[in-house]
Amino acid sequence: MQGGLEPRPGSCYSDRGTRVAHMGTRGYGIFSWFGYRPALERRVRAIKAAGYQATALWLGRHEPLVHEGKADTIPSVIRDGGLFFEYVHAPYGNVNKLWSADPSERAVIRGDYASAIRFCARHRVPTVVMHVVKGINPPAYASGGRDTFADLVKLAEDLGVRIAVENTRHEAYVERILESLDSPSLGFCYDSSHDFLHGEEAGAVLARWGKRLLVTHLSDNDGLADRHWLPGLGTGRWEAVARSFPPFYGGYLTLEVLPKREQFGDPERFLRDGIARLDWIASLVREASSQA
Ligand SMILES: [Zn+2]
Repeated sequence: MQGGLEPRPGSCYSDRGTRVAHMGTRGYGIFSWFGYRPALERRVRAIKAAGYQATALWLGRHEPLVHEGKADTIPSVIRDGGLFFEYVHAPYGNVNKLWSADPSERAVIRGDYASAIRFCARHRVPTVVMHVVKGINPPAYASGGRDTFADLVKLAEDLGVRIAVENTRHEAYVERILESLDSPSLGFCYDSSHDFLHGEEAGAVLARWGKRLLVTHLSDNDGLADRHWLPGLGTGRWEAVARSFPPFYGGYLTLEVLPKREQFGDPERFLRDGIARLDWIASLVREASSQA
């Protein structure tokens, strides 16, 4: 289904999220930055009021409390607002240093990512999302980068945190990391828009790594750029995603979305629309698994 998804009577939209019943998931989440300016506390309140159970955080300077050096106050803002703090997204500006032959370069990104792991451990946030590569022409995959990542996985194991590596452009890097490092502290973050734009076929990467799925970044786009639209507003092949979705997934269905221009101005409505679209995805997954 593309476009025009309307809330249906009896869905979580009308229940305002009082119901949490979706193919075994824990519930619904949305990234705490969804395109509106209010302070985190107000965004959290709006997310909760719309019916979500969880949220996630960009641990970089775009988030004002991080920018102001108050990152350690954020977990209580989220939890006092009644939401589960599902994951932290680690900033990845230095990520291509992972593939450098120079150990001192690799130490830079190792330091960045280790501090995100430590933040999660300190605040009992279960998962940190990481990119393993960026840009159009990244350095080649190299064993030094794999070994550096193995050190990060070891740190996550020691501290009881899980790393979820996300499919981006050049998803072969993520796949090689997952193939070569088998640990309960290392799993997969499925980004639907990156899959639609850069995957070989919609849902293929999810079918391969769904067994290690820890978190989701669900959004849609027009096939041209990473628009972060609500699912159903773009050209994404959601039926294919649903067919690849692991039926035993026990995490949250979480959006990573921004409003389209015409949706801007009413964050509450935007958030409620997101709930309806997660209902729709959950129903597609249920349908697909009942036919499997
Ligand atoms: Zn990401």
